Amino acid sequence: MIPEAKIAEIRERSDIVEVIGEYVTLKRAGVNHKGVCPFHADSDPSFNVNPSRQFYHCFGCGVSGDIFKFLMTIEGLSFIESAQRLAGRYGVELPKQEMTPAARTEQERAREALKRRRLILETAAAFFEDNLQSPAGAQARELIKERGIDDEIARLYRLGYAPDSWQGLLDHLREKRISATEVEAVGLALPRKGGSGYYDRFRNRLVFTITDPSGHPIAFSARVIGSGSGGDGRDPKYVNSPETREFVKGKILFGIHAARVDLSKTREAILVEGNFDVVSMAQAGFRNVVAPLGTAITDDHAIILRRRVDNVVVMFDGDGAGRKAAARAFPMLAKVGLAAYVAPLPDGEDPDSLFRKGGEEAIDSLLAKKKGLLDEIIRSSAAASDGSAQDAARRIGKLGPFVAAVQNHMERDVYRQLVADEFGIDPRVVFSHLRGGGSSTTGSQESGAGREETSIPGTTEERELIGLMLDQPGLCGEVEERGITTMIVTRRLQKIASDLILGYKRKEFDISEMLSGSGDDSAITWFAARAIKPLFKEEETGREALKEIEQRMRGTFLKQGVRELDQQIRLANAANDYHKVLELQRGRTEIEKEITYAHQAFDKDPISD
Ligand SMILES: [Zn+2]
Repeated sequence: MIPEAKIAEIRERSDIVEVIGEYVTLKRAGVNHKGVCPFHADSDPSFNVNPSRQFYHCFGCGVSGDIFKFLMTIEGLSFIESAQRLAGRYGVELPKQEMTPAARTEQERAREALKRRRLILETAAAFFEDNLQSPAGAQARELIKERGIDDEIARLYRLGYAPDSWQGLLDHLREKRISATEVEAVGLALPRKGGSGYYDRFRNRLVFTITDPSGHPIAFSARVIGSGSGGDGRDPKYVNSPETREFVKGKILFGIHAARVDLSKTREAILVEGNFDVVSMAQAGFRNVVAPLGTAITDDHAIILRRRVDNVVVMFDGDGAGRKAAARAFPMLAKVGLAAYVAPLPDGEDPDSLFRKGGEEAIDSLLAKKKGLLDEIIRSSAAASDGSAQDAARRIGKLGPFVAAVQNHMERDVYRQLVADEFGIDPRVVFSHLRGGGSSTTGSQESGAGREETSIPGTTEERELIGLMLDQPGLCGEVEERGITTMIVTRRLQKIASDLILGYKRKEFDISEMLSGSGDDSAITWFAARAIKPLFKEEETGREALKEIEQRMRGTFLKQGVRELDQQIRLANAANDYHKVLELQRGRTEIEKEITYAHQAFDKDPISD
């Protein structure tokens, strides 16, 4: 846990415009800075950053938050991680956790070791990149050129060349005082068999740098150059670094760092099989593309994607293995609430070969034809059935776990219906056998991948009141004294109003903090939009508006009181309790009088809405 005071200090010292400016080109517009939203397909700049209030808001898609939330969303970090990153950047010293000296030394040591491993991997990545540009890298460059990959994309994915030598990398690293055992520990060298010393793991190969989501190199994936060159086709096409502490294949997606902005902008990921597919897709203009590193899609992969997108389009190779892998990915993706689609490649093609033959247009038109992944799984299973009852029953049974993985109730029913239709059997049979499923793993995911419709919270008066308090904090004292906030009935708005009063009393009006911890409900969306556009610029006009708002709220409040009394009167009547009826009616008359009085005051000063 980072103490509140430290969080406040980080917020204070961070420059939200500078940080967001690294992802979005911002232009000054009045009190705000404006840019094209990184979280939705935005054409006009609807993304606003308010430096004085230290938060951002998009009028297109409704996202808002503070600097922490921005980093969490765009980089897929946890709150602590984003706080640590900002603390490091802006020189805020975080308190050392209370630990025994031994534990502290251990943590210190682990941090130093990680730093060292990063340095080695970064130096190696740069070495491979330099080699690609050297005369020795000519063949590798040729291979990249054949694929239609230009320099910009090659640099983006940090493509490199491992020279045809037993210790090119080892020698280079030794000059930088990095020992062979250290190189072995990060997976880049192997001990010589039956002797002393080490040799380079990757030789004469095209190298893809695998990074973590923040862009630190953690491993390499190396491809043979030319078909069967030197190895009688016995060399495996790809060799990856071995798994290390930082590199666990089932938890890493190739291209995740390069894809980060486009993933959050489109809320969609394109999943391909191979490294070259990712790079070719980027060359074709699609940067929201990632690939698993030679493994099936895991739960961890799905979670990594879910933190960044709502939809996944699976674009695996157009062969039996590719189609099987796509089907196997479905339950993983559906379980975390991702909407899964498939863009089925023609037989024998992969995204890379399709791009080479047909360019961007071919990729574009393939993506335009994407279909629901489960729809396709069901259809192809039915199409492959031999028509016998036995085979149909077996196939429908196999579809059970797929349908069960769908998180949304209604969608699940639609899929059951589809199964019945495709196999041409009575839906009741399917419904009684393919039961269950849903929220077993994630609980509150029923709303699925969709974003909530942003509805406007509360009544006009409630919103006007809060807007006023926001623009003219000086009026918060009067608002509280006159008990106006007690008439707010919308609970989320009530909370916002009391936070504003609290901030006023503490003399720190921290809008971004109010926005940060509160989730994405419609009240916060509305509040953020209101906060970015001040309406009452002078306290005096604000005070007049406050009077009107108060009158109207009092009117509504009293009418509500009358409605409640009417209800009690009905109950008392039904119970033949005439004493109570009389008493209640007297109370009602009092309130009616008050309403008339309020109306008179109100009518003197009519308000246009
Ligand atoms: Zn937006």
